[in-house]
Amino acid sequence: MKGIEQQLLTIRQAIARAAQSCDRDPLDIQLLAVSKTRPAANIRTALACGQRDFGESYVGEALEKIEALAGEAICWHFIGPIQSNKSRLIAEHFDWVHSVDRLKVAQRLNQQRPHTAPPLNICLQVNISGEASKSGVAADQLEALAEQVSGLERLQLRGLMAIPRATADSAEQRRQFAQLRELLEQLSQQHQGLDTLSMGMSADMESAIAEGATWVRIGTGIFGPRITTADKQA
Ligand SMILES: *Cc1c(COP(=O)(O)O)cnc(C)c1O
Repeated sequence: MKGIEQQLLTIRQAIARAAQSCDRDPLDIQLLAVSKTRPAANIRTALACGQRDFGESYVGEALEKIEALAGEAICWHFIGPIQSNKSRLIAEHFDWVHSVDRLKVAQRLNQQRPHTAPPLNICLQVNISGEASKSGVAADQLEALAEQVSGLERLQLRGLMAIPRATADSAEQRRQFAQLRELLEQLSQQHQGLDTLSMGMSADMESAIAEGATWVRIGTGIFGPRITTADKQA
């Protein structure tokens, strides 16, 4: 495993190459470093290399790191499943939430967002593969959810997020990402200011960029293989 500094450089180059190969401006694609399961020290290393945006999936673990790194100019993104009883901590400590998929959670985030903070940036997570086990609003219920969320004053609806069915087939990757892009295009006819497609991870980043990703969410590509609980116990 190369160091985080080298990996970040490699990922930034890969983003630029993918952008150029589809005639997009590389500056339109932002890198979200997914730091879930990684220690604060890893985040410090990435920060020192100019990385500012970090994604977390577990509230408790994230808060420890947010506290440890208080005072640093970090933009924190919540990307994991949201339990209602954790919504206050998310509303108070994050700048973005990519994983809103139901009205109840959106309403809680809206009520709990501190008035001293700017509106919370929101992406609606869509279950584009339709797998029952997956989080995300169904595509046919997206428009109704977007309508309701866009009326919440302390939230700023920015766009859509998806985690498609994993496949090594790049044509299939692109088909799924294209679906999310088309959903955003449809919503944009009703709503202004939708500028965000949060899609693409380490294994399918190029396909996502070709279909219009504005945030790619990269964990292992920057920090190396995740250490799972099972590994830790072994
Ligand atoms: C873990 C995670 C990622 C990063 O995945 P990698 O394969 O490690 O790049 C991206 N998005 C979400 C929602 C995640 O949970």
